[in-house]
Amino acid sequence: MGARVRAQIGLIPTLHRVAGMTANEMTIECPRCKVRQKIHVAMRSEVAPLGSQYMFCINCKSEFDVKVPDKIVGGPFPA
Ligand SMILES: [Zn+2]
Repeated sequence: MGARVRAQIGLIPTLHRVAGMTANEMTIECPRCKVRQKIHVAMRSEVAPLGSQYMFCINCKSEFDVKVPDKIVGGPFPA
């Protein structure tokens, strides 16, 4: 006897948000060693295009420039 209670298991959201803004994941390739890596780019349309930004390769540690429409907020990570 007695009422059965079915537990509700909610799905945990896996989307990460950085300080309230959504980041766009992009895959880039090092011009020197050709190793692909991921970066997170901000998606704030009100910010003017920044042009080239410099970053270091996770593999050969060489510096190279990346042309993305907005500020790089994370990365590089192994792709
Ligand atoms: Zn490299």
